[in-house]
Amino acid sequence: MKQAPQVDAIVIGAGFSGLYLIRKLRDELGLNVKVFERGTGVGGTWFWNRYPGARCDVESVFYSYSFDEQLQQDWVWTERYPAQEEILRYINHVADRFDLRRSIEFETTVVSCEYDEDKNLWTAETDTGDRTSAPYLISAVGCLSVPLTPEFPGLESFGGHVYHTGAWPTEGADVTGLRVGVIGTGSSGIQVIPELARQAAELTVFQRTATFTVPARNRPLTDDERTQTKSIYADIREAARYSGTGHLLDQPIGSGQEVDRTMAKIELERRWWRGGITVPATFNDTTVNLDSNEFISEFVREKIRSIVTDPEVARLLEPHDYAIGTKRIVLDAGYYDTYNRENVTLVSTRANPIEHFTPTGIVVGGVEHPLDVIVLATGYDAMTGALNRIRIQGRDGVLLREKWAAGPTTYLGVATHSFPNFFTVTGPGSPSVLSNMIASIEQHVEWIAAYVDHLRSNGIRCTEPSANAEQNWVEHVNTLANATLLPKAASWYMGANVPGKPRVFMPYLGGVGTYRRICDEVAANNYMGFVHDSAETTVLPALIRTT
Ligand code: FAD
Ligand code: NAP
Repeated sequence: MKQAPQVDAIVIGAGFSGLYLIRKLRDELGLNVKVFERGTGVGGTWFWNRYPGARCDVESVFYSYSFDEQLQQDWVWTERYPAQEEILRYINHVADRFDLRRSIEFETTVVSCEYDEDKNLWTAETDTGDRTSAPYLISAVGCLSVPLTPEFPGLESFGGHVYHTGAWPTEGADVTGLRVGVIGTGSSGIQVIPELARQAAELTVFQRTATFTVPARNRPLTDDERTQTKSIYADIREAARYSGTGHLLDQPIGSGQEVDRTMAKIELERRWWRGGITVPATFNDTTVNLDSNEFISEFVREKIRSIVTDPEVARLLEPHDYAIGTKRIVLDAGYYDTYNRENVTLVSTRANPIEHFTPTGIVVGGVEHPLDVIVLATGYDAMTGALNRIRIQGRDGVLLREKWAAGPTTYLGVATHSFPNFFTVTGPGSPSVLSNMIASIEQHVEWIAAYVDHLRSNGIRCTEPSANAEQNWVEHVNTLANATLLPKAASWYMGANVPGKPRVFMPYLGGVGTYRRICDEVAANNYMGFVHDSAETTVLPALIRTT
């Protein structure tokens, strides 16, 4: 077979992660970097999710790169929570500003990556049949980049348009005057439903599980706010890096078992009216103590009853299937009010699941709901989906998807045993989806780049975590999760939304700041836990003790 062209590093994905990797590896370390991206443009999540209402739930001040002071001084965010269009404009600006596009091959999907131990080279093959080799392979494929379409009987027979929120048409979708059905009431459904209700003639929402959502209270930023942020931007960023979630939020007022409940109610009201994700975090034990949790859960249910005028609809919207904060909390813009509109109908598919699609609608409980357009807000094969769709073969013929058949195992969420010189940005076992992801992406990219620099400067050909280090880390991640209520919820954090996927809690719950310190400690101790050219450096028990 013809020799594949060789570069220094192959990167898969051109979202926030892939773009920053180009900047670090190419522009700072001088590596020849080749990025493959399935889409026609940069932006990842924000390229694909163009559905009406798509918006960030992290404030714009934080949901942006911090690596370039001039960039953060120059860019003007217009709103508290940026909309998809603004984020996509920002990321395109970054790509142009740093001339990143020339390292990216668009409309190209990586289908396999194979490691050759003798040559110490990874070879990536794309859907065009082209092959490229490099000593380093870096995944920037995203945690939420594989949209899920459930196998609804008769789906293909439906005569109207079907759109998934995670693969929204670039040209948009006009539903004016049409009968629209939305399946799914997670973050995507809750964002798209109020927008579609305003455009459609009739909107039917098919809800299987009611979701806890709290108001975002998005608004334009004032000039004064922007000036204030920019005057201390570097300090804000530094504080965020060592925070629990990668952005600065209202802190808990104490334990729900100790705080006076009247004071707690006042604080919950304040947070509800200020907007943002911190309602569940009013107590520091919301995710470990059921009684504390129930107080906050009931506060939100009471709000639903006070907003939704039809008591039966309000009852269906009240979440009772999981404790608040054990699935991703959702931020909304008038979600519950939407159910007071004449043209909106809520259909619970809890007791009567969706039976089948027909050419003209959806049948539930023997009743057909006539529809012109169906929107699937049915979520993602999260955290492992994009990696497992690539045939990644490491040392000794080990396949990643087989190694991870019972759930992903990694060291620090950034590397995995038997896969030398392979790094995963925001991989399973790192804070990733439990944080402001841009903070976590920057931390991983910087750590990986520093490690690659270290390896090259010290003549180390290859590295991988030891089996022992990986096992210890996995146990540590599980121990943290099992001390909370989070594994009890049927969430995508647990893989519970994908039929057949192993139920394993995938992200690291110890917090962004703690995690950063651990990674820094690993690096400072000659990358303990990794095997360099077959020589183990591990001193792992010390590491776990400090966490
Ligand atoms: P992505 O943006 O997912 O980019 C990965 C890219 O890799 C994609 O473009 C994909 O096409 C490409 N790719 C994957 N596999 C292959 C392959 N085999 N070959 C070639 N290309 C491939 N996070 C927050 O912190 N706050 C938020 O408010 C927030 N809102 C979100 C809203 C939505 C609708 C979704 C889906 C996610 C949201 N997230 C949010 C998470 C978001 O994914 C991250 O914040 C961030 O954008 C991830 O960047 P990334 O570059 O790591 O991955
Ligand atoms: P999701 O949270 O997984 O929600 C999927 C929804 O589809 C759920 O309501 C689910 O019901 C329903 N569903 C799935 N399969 C179904 C079936 N076969 N029949 C009936 N209903 C079905 O997905 P998402 O809303 O796309 O959000 C995923 C993540 O992306 C979020 O948690 C968040 O991290 C990120 N996101 C963030 C924002 C933001 O605000 N910035 C916006 C969108 C997405 P069940 O609950 O019963 O399974």
